Amino acid sequence: MDSVVERVTRERAMAWVEQRAAENGGWISRDQLLRGFRPDGAEPLGLIDYSRGIRNPAHMAATLSITTSVGGPYEDRDLGDGLLHYAYRQGGRGGDNTKLRRAMELGVPLILFIKTEPNVLVPVHPVYVVADDESTQTFVIALDEEFRDIADPTSLTEDQRRYAVRTARQRLHQPVFRGRVIRAYATRCSICSLAHGRLLEAAHIYPDSHPEGRAVVSNGLSLCSIHHAAYDANLLGITPDHVVQLDDDLLAEVDGPMLRHGLQEMHGRALTLPARRQDRPDREALAFRYEAFRR
Ligand SMILES: [Zn+2]
Repeated sequence: MDSVVERVTRERAMAWVEQRAAENGGWISRDQLLRGFRPDGAEPLGLIDYSRGIRNPAHMAATLSITTSVGGPYEDRDLGDGLLHYAYRQGGRGGDNTKLRRAMELGVPLILFIKTEPNVLVPVHPVYVVADDESTQTFVIALDEEFRDIADPTSLTEDQRRYAVRTARQRLHQPVFRGRVIRAYATRCSICSLAHGRLLEAAHIYPDSHPEGRAVVSNGLSLCSIHHAAYDANLLGITPDHVVQLDDDLLAEVDGPMLRHGLQEMHGRALTLPARRQDRPDREALAFRYEAFRR
């Protein structure tokens, strides 16, 4: 493939991924990634590989995407330095690794897919291969363009490390949390059932700042922007038994349709819960937040 065509294909792949993920609320199905992207309107170009954690289209010089998993034992790790240490694929320095190394040499952006369930992936892009660490048989993947200019990304200064950790939080951990939560609630607001991924957010139940405020699905709620803001402002509470309650003053107010339909009519409604029991909101977390709302 001509290098200009390859660059345009890469850009279009990323734009397509961005669109699909936005519609779904931050995640994309495996099937969409295998068959949904048609760069010329003709044959689909798979954005992930059927079985391997790396996608190297035959006609492209450099890797298009890499896939890694969250949780469970996996060989690719964030070592706490805010960078992803992506293990060499089978075949040592050759094979699939050649095109990943080529991506580093060319400085081209890649898509990183985080597999959160067998058929569900959360995209993070652009990411860059910034080092090839032969001693540990890993590639170092940065979530920020800044790291392309660092001489030795395998040994960061304290400032660089802090920056990388902060970036990983914003660009990796938060999107994964959001994608998992919204997916668990089947891309709907758990209060009003609004089904537009672009308008959905993942609310923390125990706040981020609380020691229990972990980024796990049972500490999250899929909420539309208005209900998320109302929940965080304690204008709206949720009982440990999943009943929506509105602030007394807000209930008494008289105003237009957003207040009436969007908020007041939610009072007394039962939360729509995820199908899987383990994804449902933690009762103690809800009780903690409901207390704050009562005060
Ligand atoms: Zn809502």
